[in-house]
Amino acid sequence: KVAGKDASDQGPPPRRTVRLTHPDRLYWPDDGVTKEGLADYYADVWRYMAPFVVGRPLALLRCPNGIAGEKFFQKHAWKGLNPKVALVQDPKEPDGAPLISINDLDGLMGLVQSAALEIHPWGATVADWERPDMIVMDLDPGEGVAWQAVIDAAHEVRRRLADAGLEPFVKTSGGKGLHVAAPLKPAATWPAVKAFAKSLAEAMAADSPELYVATITKAKRRGKILIDYLRNQRGATAVAAWSTRARPGAAVSAPLGWDELGPEIGPAYFTVSNIPGRLAALASDPWADFRAAATPLDMESRTGKTRG
Ligand code: ATP
Ligand code: MN
Ligand code: MN
Repeated sequence: KVAGKDASDQGPPPRRTVRLTHPDRLYWPDDGVTKEGLADYYADVWRYMAPFVVGRPLALLRCPNGIAGEKFFQKHAWKGLNPKVALVQDPKEPDGAPLISINDLDGLMGLVQSAALEIHPWGATVADWERPDMIVMDLDPGEGVAWQAVIDAAHEVRRRLADAGLEPFVKTSGGKGLHVAAPLKPAATWPAVKAFAKSLAEAMAADSPELYVATITKAKRRGKILIDYLRNQRGATAVAAWSTRARPGAAVSAPLGWDELGPEIGPAYFTVSNIPGRLAALASDPWADFRAAATPLDMESRTGKTRG
């Protein structure tokens, strides 16, 4: 085991310096999760979450009055934003409003202070805007799809990504589905990564049309799983690993080991309340090796089903 990667052998969570106003404000009223409770959660998971949120453009789902109130999806900086939050300029929009980014836990606390209850990063960093460092396949079950079918779809995506030379990881969405993500060495640009993701989704839909669809056409979705590949285009986002969801239950998007997929762990199983216990019990973070597993996308690689 690599030193410092075990969940159990780390020191206390890092200290935070951002002052929270109204720390007792209930963000998830039915679950008793307050602004301070959210800050405590993020301090606990920060060492695992950091690689997925630091130095990336972020879109936020903000809910100033908690999840029962108004929600707005925000990708541009605003006046009064906490100074610990970084502003970044999209090089393709030199005259546009700055985008939001963070560099450290204080930045994340600035987002908590701003009632950002969901954090949605780009799949690229501000060090290399044009070349994604991860691919995310978002599995969206239509009505009436059994959970086991979503798990089967995740394994299928896993196999196809592995066939392309990538190392896939899986997480709950904290909503209804699963996300299968693979780290990339930034090399291929957005159009190439999108084309790869599209061909993977279309190959699955072509091979198993009774199970999968690759396009968002509601009529076609009932009983099927949308293999949503559109997270993989410039400016698109997917919810961050460890981010909370602004939905009842205070679920989070939780990294899993592949062997954990099963009937017990549903898409919203892990929450702000039970993650601390999970971290204490886990031998190691199932996504600890995510960055180290990065591989450049080989555009010649195959996404099809048949193997020789
Ligand atoms: P679920 O499992 O319930 O589908 P999800 O997070 O995957 O949860 P999706 O609706 O599939 O939800 O959306 C996938 C991603 O697309 C989101 O995580 C978010 O980053 C992005 N997204 C969703 N809605 C919007 C929106 N209104 N504007 C911009 N991006 C969005
Ligand atoms: Mn989804
Ligand atoms: Mn989707």
